[in-house]
Amino acid sequence: MQDKSAPEEFDVVIVGRGPVGATLANLLGLCGVRTLVLEREARTYHLPRAVHFDDECMRVFQTIGLADAILPHVILSPGMLFLDAAGRMLLDWSRPQTLTPMGWHLSYRFHQPDLEDVLIGGLARWPHVTLRNRCDVFALDQDEDSVRVRYEDLSSGKLCEVRAGYVIGCDGARSLVRRFIGSSMDDLGFHERWLVIDVLLKRDRDDLGDYSLQHCDPRRPATYVRGTGTRRRWEITVLPDEDSQAVTQPAQVWELLSRWIGPDDAEIERAAVYTFHSVIAQQWRNRRLLLAGDSAHQTPPFLGQGMCAGIRDVANLAWKLGAIIREGAAPRLLDTYQSERLPHVREFIELAIRLGGVINTKAIEAGLAAGQPRDNAPVKLEVKKPLLGPGLALGDLPLAGHLAPQFALNDGRRSDDRTGYSHVLFVADVTLSSRLALSQAGIEILTHDDAEAIGDWLREQGIVAALVRPDRYIRGTARNESELARLVAVLEPSTQVPSAA
Ligand SMILES: Cc1cc2nc3c(=O)[nH]c(=O)nc-3n(C[C@H](O)[C@H](O)[C@H](O)COP(=O)(O)OP(=O)(O)OC[C@H]3O[C@@H](n4cnc5c(N)ncnc54)[C@H](O)[C@@H]3O)c2cc1C
Repeated sequence: MQDKSAPEEFDVVIVGRGPVGATLANLLGLCGVRTLVLEREARTYHLPRAVHFDDECMRVFQTIGLADAILPHVILSPGMLFLDAAGRMLLDWSRPQTLTPMGWHLSYRFHQPDLEDVLIGGLARWPHVTLRNRCDVFALDQDEDSVRVRYEDLSSGKLCEVRAGYVIGCDGARSLVRRFIGSSMDDLGFHERWLVIDVLLKRDRDDLGDYSLQHCDPRRPATYVRGTGTRRRWEITVLPDEDSQAVTQPAQVWELLSRWIGPDDAEIERAAVYTFHSVIAQQWRNRRLLLAGDSAHQTPPFLGQGMCAGIRDVANLAWKLGAIIREGAAPRLLDTYQSERLPHVREFIELAIRLGGVINTKAIEAGLAAGQPRDNAPVKLEVKKPLLGPGLALGDLPLAGHLAPQFALNDGRRSDDRTGYSHVLFVADVTLSSRLALSQAGIEILTHDDAEAIGDWLREQGIVAALVRPDRYIRGTARNESELARLVAVLEPSTQVPSAA
């Protein structure tokens, strides 16, 4: 019988149920990990924040079984145009309206509280995941075996404690968990005040358009974003001599918006000044304590990638935690988390800073991205997704560290739905005996019999097989039978973690 005075025990405690903590809790729910989420606030954060996420995030939401619930809350984005002070187009960042290899669209617009409500609602599906709101974590003490987590239940003022195998700090920019890890931040140099205004239209203003617009006016750079429903967003630079409080007053807000819209057209839903930072924590893990999301990194929002980066963090982290807690994998597997994620997020933050430079100075840098300037036409911008940093991907093999495509299967399903949150081998041909060995190692197999496109893709890439991790990144590929044997050996339990990690 359990000692009633002993603190409750969980495999994982997540501090914070913002979008990153809530996604992690759903992923751990999928892995069967006993999880407690502690959140200081009673309800979702009320100020305007993320409005865009990408195809990779939607694929994570598909993995946790919530894509269908999220779809009614999103609209597709046609992309972003950069205009100079006279309204001439400088840069065209149109997004394709077709599905990407991820099986989703490249750019979705949404309202962050809507997304968070779906993610939080999804937690009720997992009996081993518990959410406690109004619980403020104030102390973490770790020893060899576990972490003592102390928090205040703000509804009663009672001080409580639980024990956890791991604590994940999804507790935002001012992270307490980061303090207990003892990590300082690398500063990438961008810190600017912007006024962010959400309005709700009272009448049609179709002329505002569906494209996001970057007004690269050096006197007062500004961004317009079409939101979902009647919501429209402007982000406007606050000048050095302006007071942060004063610019959020309604008269001042309408004055700043007067170029585009007035009080007859819309009501102000929320206006707040943010200082956008560009920082990355130097240390994402200290033994049983880890960081994910804004606690680990913050970016200016010009690429719409802050939350997306946090969703990628937890997609990378959750299956590793599941493997350690449920399957006895070595804890050093967690060393690959920061090494894989940090270079990836750093590349996105650096690009966001450069885009911010364009918006601020109207200088279109040569080599900003892969786009080619054309005569008398704006530069076309394309953003390539960064690769995973060094870790589990077998770096000497083609495509290792890239995202794997998702295929439409002959049975009408998407390949991720068939394989679930596990490793999968895309393979040209597989003998019965190796099929048995693979399924014993917990690896799903998909061949050209499941979708012709799988065989076509392998041929195009010049490979006979690709081993894909639960977070959909390619762990390694094989060009022939002997490379295939090496690839599969990676997943035998004794060899799941690279010896160098
Ligand atoms: C104006 C603006 C526009 C943006 N646009 C985009 C965009 O278009 N696309 C995009 O991807 N990102 C965007 N972002 C960034 C995005 O909003 C954040 O990256 C995202 O909210 C971070 O999520 P998180 O879960 O890591 O942290 P948060 O959302 O900050 O959640 C942290 C949670 O932890 C809780 N917490 C903190 N400390 C404790 C404690 N001690 N005990 C218990 N609970 C605690 C907090 O109450 C909070 O609920 C934008 C941000 C801003 C400000």
